[in-house]
Amino acid sequence: MQLLKWHGQLILLNFLMFMSWRPCRGLNVPSYDSNYRANPTRRSAVFAQPSSYYDQYAAAGPKPLTADQRRAKLTALSNPDFYFPDDPEADLAEANEPEPALERQRARPAPAAGSFSYNEKDKNGPSHWYRVDARCGGRYQSPILLNTSSALLVNRKRPLRLDGQTNLPQTILLQNDGHSAKFTYNWRTGADRPVLRGGPLKTKYLFDQFHFHWGVNSTVGSEHVYDYQRYPMEIHLVFYNGLYESFAAAREQVDGIAVVGLFYEIYDHAVDEQLNTWTRFLRNVVEPNSQHTIEFIDTFPLYEVIGDVEWPYFSYEGSLTTPPCLETVTWIVATKPLLVTEKEMKQFRRLQSPTGLMVNNYRPVQKLNHRRVFLY
Ligand SMILES: [Zn+2]
Repeated sequence: MQLLKWHGQLILLNFLMFMSWRPCRGLNVPSYDSNYRANPTRRSAVFAQPSSYYDQYAAAGPKPLTADQRRAKLTALSNPDFYFPDDPEADLAEANEPEPALERQRARPAPAAGSFSYNEKDKNGPSHWYRVDARCGGRYQSPILLNTSSALLVNRKRPLRLDGQTNLPQTILLQNDGHSAKFTYNWRTGADRPVLRGGPLKTKYLFDQFHFHWGVNSTVGSEHVYDYQRYPMEIHLVFYNGLYESFAAAREQVDGIAVVGLFYEIYDHAVDEQLNTWTRFLRNVVEPNSQHTIEFIDTFPLYEVIGDVEWPYFSYEGSLTTPPCLETVTWIVATKPLLVTEKEMKQFRRLQSPTGLMVNNYRPVQKLNHRRVFLY
């Protein structure tokens, strides 16, 4: 009796396995072209594949993407209807994203009016920024995914130039504005102010400030994602069009802002080595909404922060990555990362925001929405 019961279960199990296998088989059918489909006499040949055809699917583990699959995936990524298709790499990255330390703290205070948070669980988190400012819900937002394979290569390019990058300012104002650490240079004369021109820019853009976005650890932090990789930190050097009298006036204009973004990668060969000596000033602005003036004797030129401007770079039209998210930014994102040590990253991660540690202050990637990304 017992044997009969097992036998019945085995038959049922076999039947179920067959039924679940059968529809999967259809997925292995190659997509034949239209004249193949139009010819009914050849249709029966679809399943008459050589046995080796099925064998290639028997190999264990995920297969690397072919060039076609990769192209299809990139097309899907840029399609607003399939913003995040099933993507094992992205899922893995998400799974590896650690819970920010501030999660485990006491209940969060209610957000102040007009303020924004980088925590998706907050009422004013990144996906609700459009409530803080409607323009954050626009179609040409930043940051985005930057992919070498889908970017349009610019062959006849004007060189990108940063003039005055060795000029020293009178003082530098370092601010913890609650969302980032911001360095604003105070110039003795207007002529000292560094100027960015060439590349995708039609006019001269004047340097305003630089600030950073970083992660709770070195697996996350950058705003742009370069070939599916997030870097531990990203610097933004903000320039405004010299046609306008100030940053505030320029940022409202369609050609008002240019931002140069550079990634940082960890240099772990000498733990105690100081690569970016200016990070020592961060300890003066640990408290949210605090500031510190770096006197002339301690000031440093842009050259000391980013070096030469001679790397291949992505360029696209996007927005400020914090509210009000104005879509007036020509982005220039370098493909060659700068170096930072873990010790220096710790100085960033020690900073405080009004709701806890200032970490993971990067915005999630936004839809491309038919924009084109150029590689210079
Ligand atoms: Zn920024």
